Amino acid sequence: MTGTGIDMASALEPLVGKRTAVALESLDIATVGELVRHYPRRYVDRGKLTDIAGLEIGEQATLVAQVEKSALRDMRSRRGKLLSVVIRDEKGATIDCTFFNGHKVQHVIHAGVRAVFSGKVGVFNGKLQLTHPQFEPFDEADEIRPFLSVYPANGKITSQQVARCVRQVLDVLDDPTDPLPELVRGREKLTDLGRALRRIHVPEAEADIHAARHRLVWDEAMGVQLALALRRQATATRPAAACPPVPGGLLDAFDAALPFTLTAGQHAVGTEVAADLAREHPMNRLVQGDVGAGKTVIALRAMLQVVDGGRQAALLAPTEVLAAQHARSLRTLLGPLGKAGELGGAEQATNVTLLTGSLGAKARRQALLDAQSGAAGIVVGTHALIQEHVGFADLGLVVVDEQHRFGVEQRDALRSRGELAPHMLVMTATPIPRTVAMTVYGDLEVSALRELPKGRSPIGTTVVPLAEKPSWFERVWRRVREEVAAGHQAYVVCPRVGATEADAELVDTDDPDIGADSDDGQAKRPPMAVLEVAPKLDDGPLHGLRIGVLHGKLPPDEKDAVMRAFERGELDVLVATTVIEVGVDVPNSTCMVILDADRFGLSQLHQLRGRVGRGSAPGVCLLVTDMPAATTARERLDAVAGTTDGFELARLDLELRREGDVLGALQSGRRSGLRLLSLLRHEEVISKAQVYAQHVVADDPGLRRHPGLAALVGETVGDEERAAYLDKV
Ligand code: ADP
Ligand code: MG
Repeated sequence: MTGTGIDMASALEPLVGKRTAVALESLDIATVGELVRHYPRRYVDRGKLTDIAGLEIGEQATLVAQVEKSALRDMRSRRGKLLSVVIRDEKGATIDCTFFNGHKVQHVIHAGVRAVFSGKVGVFNGKLQLTHPQFEPFDEADEIRPFLSVYPANGKITSQQVARCVRQVLDVLDDPTDPLPELVRGREKLTDLGRALRRIHVPEAEADIHAARHRLVWDEAMGVQLALALRRQATATRPAAACPPVPGGLLDAFDAALPFTLTAGQHAVGTEVAADLAREHPMNRLVQGDVGAGKTVIALRAMLQVVDGGRQAALLAPTEVLAAQHARSLRTLLGPLGKAGELGGAEQATNVTLLTGSLGAKARRQALLDAQSGAAGIVVGTHALIQEHVGFADLGLVVVDEQHRFGVEQRDALRSRGELAPHMLVMTATPIPRTVAMTVYGDLEVSALRELPKGRSPIGTTVVPLAEKPSWFERVWRRVREEVAAGHQAYVVCPRVGATEADAELVDTDDPDIGADSDDGQAKRPPMAVLEVAPKLDDGPLHGLRIGVLHGKLPPDEKDAVMRAFERGELDVLVATTVIEVGVDVPNSTCMVILDADRFGLSQLHQLRGRVGRGSAPGVCLLVTDMPAATTARERLDAVAGTTDGFELARLDLELRREGDVLGALQSGRRSGLRLLSLLRHEEVISKAQVYAQHVVADDPGLRRHPGLAALVGETVGDEERAAYLDKV
């Protein structure tokens, strides 16, 4: 239909009435566009009765079923009648329904009627039941539509009401202008937008649904890729201080003194980074390399090149422990080259300044002053601290360690608002599947370190299944004692700090899997806690060993003291939370016991075990769990034990994790413009869209000739961000 003057921006109220418009607002739907972009979650085939045995308890189900019998009963404690109904599917499986308004509905719900029922699946007296479900007999209009579209809905508005509104609106909507260029649509054989929107809501055949979805996925992929291409363009065109290598400078001196040879990968990535730093536009590079791949050296070499160029470098770590550790390892690597002005310092030496919240007021003031005056060549601190409080004389490079805790936005916040943008080097040990690299990190160039330095020992990982082999628990501790007796050290990792409610929060993790209920829906016992486990080990199986405790709730100076004691070998065993997950480097530790291992994400387990086997002695990681065999939890642990390929685990992790969390990092906490796009299923679309988007932006940087695409960017990342990219051009 054309010529009604109703378009995507039109308000809904005149079309659906005030009450419905208000109800739709509870779903964040206020315009025609928002309504037609509210896609069905799934479809119910009207021709078939829904398989009742396949329903899951707790599920919000919409099913087509036939009424087998119905009977009015008195309510026990109130006046009025209940209607008890039994509905069935083709196979004869049944589910009970209870309607509270028995008198009213008895005339429509009687034996033989086929209808759509929707409600929450529960159990009562050992039988499946729907309590007071939404109920709709097929009406005439339905007869001609083979599929019933099931919408995300809530208590204020039902799926069926949404469906009615959508149909009402589609009837009068002018066909929207298609934002995708003719060229893309033609080459990719995409349905046009108007048709796709109609078909996704009111499909006539299964093929319609696929074609419509495919087309709409393209919109989202293009929106994301355009936003990223624009973001890349916005940063790449900013001026930055060029820091070409300085022959005979600090970097050369460092390379000459390095006690090992760089791996081929370190060399190659180092060359890329050196070239980036020499340019007059900011570097934006992500270096990914498995734990122990040697990223610190790469970062340090970049920092030295910048210091040689007369500028400062900052290294940002996610935690204080890590920041302190980084400062120490940079100082160790630098040796005399890091001791400017100190006894034994080399002539061209620089300084590593540590800036953390645990510094005393005086030391902190001095550190801030050094950063501001330029006396500090390299400043190491936590993200928060440096971002908020530090002024630099001339910041040339920001290195961000362990990017996976970090979104696109935080990255932006780090860029100075000064005239010259600092170069940026992001390091992550979490391998990034290709689609994630193309989306969440799509504004960065990516380098990968694929090999570990020689002489590393393999880590053997074993699952310790207490459900079947309770006696193994004792063997775990015997193993720890053996390692210690051989002069090594061990970690014991627990999912949380303490047992009280206040400690219940899981520290230092952003993994949504953790703390989730088990597969069977039963709540688990509370997870193992550092503060409980440590004394028990001390009194029991590890009695006599020197045991330290480390977790996020310790005061920072205490954390630091514990870490140092462990590094110096003054502790045999460190009982810790995931604070040790990233970056902690104690080559003498050879053994890690992870308690309640099923509570951690796959990539996280991989990170954790990367803490052992960093020296020449072989490492062992024991994943202790009481989850029974043949559960998903156990399969995940077996996967970790079965491979040391971080990329493979990252992919599995992505499959298990709610993808929204990953894509969410693209957006500023607003309601997601991404409804259909999946990083797992749409790899091909995403990579094609990336190519198209880059072409379009190169050709039309302000998207002036592509207003439809500009609008698409707004739909995907929000209008504010769109404006930030487009209004400057
Ligand atoms: P990650 O990539 O996990 O940050 P690090 O940078 O901490 O790894 O390096 C791990 C260890 O390997 C450090 O002790 C570091 O000094 C050492 N290392 C780095 N590069 C090499 C190399 N090319 N040869 C030998 N050892 C190296
Ligand atoms: Mg590191």
